[in-house]
Amino acid sequence: MTSVPLPQMPVAAPPAAPEHARQGLRDSHGRVIRDLRLSVTDRCNFRCTYCMEPDDRFLPRQQLLGLNDYLHIIDAAIGLGVTKLRITGGEPTLYPDLDAFIEAAGRRPLDDIAMTTNGWALDPRRVAAWKAAGLHRLTFSLDTLRDDRMAAITRSRTSVATVLESIDVARDAGFARPKINVVLQTSVNDDEAVHFAALARTRDLDVRFIEFMPLDSGRHWDRSTVVTAAQTKAAIHAVFALEPETAAHAAETSTNFRFADGAPGRVGFIAPVSNPFCGACNRLRITAEGMVRPCLFSTDEWDVRPSLATGRVEDVQALLQDATWTKQKGHGIGSKEFSQPARGMRAIGG
Ligand code: SAM
Ligand code: SF4
Repeated sequence: MTSVPLPQMPVAAPPAAPEHARQGLRDSHGRVIRDLRLSVTDRCNFRCTYCMEPDDRFLPRQQLLGLNDYLHIIDAAIGLGVTKLRITGGEPTLYPDLDAFIEAAGRRPLDDIAMTTNGWALDPRRVAAWKAAGLHRLTFSLDTLRDDRMAAITRSRTSVATVLESIDVARDAGFARPKINVVLQTSVNDDEAVHFAALARTRDLDVRFIEFMPLDSGRHWDRSTVVTAAQTKAAIHAVFALEPETAAHAAETSTNFRFADGAPGRVGFIAPVSNPFCGACNRLRITAEGMVRPCLFSTDEWDVRPSLATGRVEDVQALLQDATWTKQKGHGIGSKEFSQPARGMRAIGG
């Protein structure tokens, strides 16, 4: 399968937001952005089937932003009211300046700094240093507990045990109740929901099932490949009774449950396809080379590099405000107008 060329989108400056929008980061639908998802690399050592194709091309290294650029963007965003940062990619642990980046981000006034990783062979000393520097949360992606499927899904030689060891490393470093993201696909791993729930119980983990979204660069997604949150929850509830937990905040994308018998661990369900939560979205994404994406499903994206080049934080802030104002009301998956973005999840930053 030949992958889709990048990018196929306009990169001109966004239209200027009206004057009354220039307080913090506001979109034209009344939503306020607090959560910045920053991709620090487009590289990955896995080729997960629901995300990448084996022949996906990475950008030339010189096109990726540098450490100071990322920090400049964070400072601009914090000045506009962003309180949460998620470090993502590609695989963020492949970013050469990751340790320095976390150290510097940890000194910023942020309420929450989290990172998502595929969990490939994390070094205990590095993980401990991230924790000490102010990384609050680590999320691991793991879609199967079977090694034969691990090889087929990730198209890598990584074993399930390797990722579980990394999760233990995170816990030992002080990351309480690490989180696992699971993407179930029909006839691929849809029989593993209960196994993951059992894992959550025995290891006191927070397992989140995310519906497969049309963000795979191979464009194999169709509605029949999606295992819905309702199906996954029903499968688990039939074996381990679940009790709802109250949402921590309004922008929480996951509906979370504890086990009724008091066992440790939790499960949560993220349903962007079957039950979209766009109305409460408070996120803005920036790709590793500096494209601002107001929505995961944006087909327009805006280049922050000209604003970075001036060295003035106000210029970056104006660009972020203008881009945010263009944020679409919803993703529209399933509607006639929906069109899958040119970028896959790996090139956006999940
Ligand atoms: N490489 C890291 C990882 O896998 O955790 C971080 C980047 S990855 C793009 C971030 C998250 O996006 C992962 O949890 C992954 O499972 C999820 N993801 C990727 N493609 C997806 C898709 N098409 N639908 C739903 N989730 C997807
Ligand atoms: Fe890489 Fe993460 Fe995408 Fe898998 S989900 S291919 S680990 S970026």
